[in-house]
Amino acid sequence: MSDMIPTFRNMAIALFIGYRAMINNETPVACILVSRSTNQILSIGYNDTNRSLNGTRHAEFIAIDKVMSQIPVHDRSDIAKIQGFFGDVILYVTVEPCIMCASALKQIGIGYVVYGCGNDRFGGNGTILSIHQDKINKAYQSYGGVLRTEAVQLLRNFYIQENDSAPNPKIKKNKELENKEYPPNLDFKEYLSPEEFTEFFGDERFAASYDNRGRELTPVLNHGYTLRDILHIEDLLAVSELKEMYQEKDFEDKLENDLQNFYGLFYDIDEEGKVDFNKIITKIDQIAQINPADPADPVNQVIQVDGFTTDLDCKKRKLNK
Ligand SMILES: [Zn+2]
Repeated sequence: MSDMIPTFRNMAIALFIGYRAMINNETPVACILVSRSTNQILSIGYNDTNRSLNGTRHAEFIAIDKVMSQIPVHDRSDIAKIQGFFGDVILYVTVEPCIMCASALKQIGIGYVVYGCGNDRFGGNGTILSIHQDKINKAYQSYGGVLRTEAVQLLRNFYIQENDSAPNPKIKKNKELENKEYPPNLDFKEYLSPEEFTEFFGDERFAASYDNRGRELTPVLNHGYTLRDILHIEDLLAVSELKEMYQEKDFEDKLENDLQNFYGLFYDIDEEGKVDFNKIITKIDQIAQINPADPADPVNQVIQVDGFTTDLDCKKRKLNK
């Protein structure tokens, strides 16, 4: 059976970065770029559209820019060299890349992409368009559904929190999200052929999940999990860039505290890949009291421009086919 634990761990790191972004009033979408051959984290990125007031500052662009800045200047315009480099890189991102990012990833020749939940408005890796496999430039492979419910839960937390601090007509609708069950899993057969699915997720998971939208992927087949099983403080301490997301001097204590809060935000998944909604999870406002959002701050008034929803139904709406 293919060992999925490192894949889930990398996604859990990206989710944690998304959680830190949320604490800073950003939409919790985050990513890491990882070397395919060494599994080393090359850079991290998180949504920065609210702070920068720039709608193109998506997590993927930020992570790519950081890696690009490490490439010698005279090589940056050499597309063959760029593609040679990124061909050995995997992107782990909490939400399916949008059409803009999917296109950029293709141009730089990314090795492959692993994402959490589908992006039902702007998804460029199979939900709205299949940019990753169109005929322009070399196609790349993309695999969704890894820690999908956690990615959805993080987005829901964000929207519920946002509406607590900035009243608007969406309050009631978003409040209803709080205890709502998740939409079904990705319809994998609309995204991957049986061969593609099996190559990445293994044949036992193919039998269990390929045609079963009622089941979440688990790091070990037929075993339940919580994020405590997957992500540990050492994994985060190894991400040197994470320190930049903290101003405090006592970085390690804050990180440990944040990690404990982070664990509490998510439901457990049982051995059949079902979400255990009986667990009491932490509401983000309990954490937000530590970092209250100021509604007068312009940052908090432009949040709506971002294109993600918390009610991701992951339905296929292929406009190009
Ligand atoms: Zn994007």
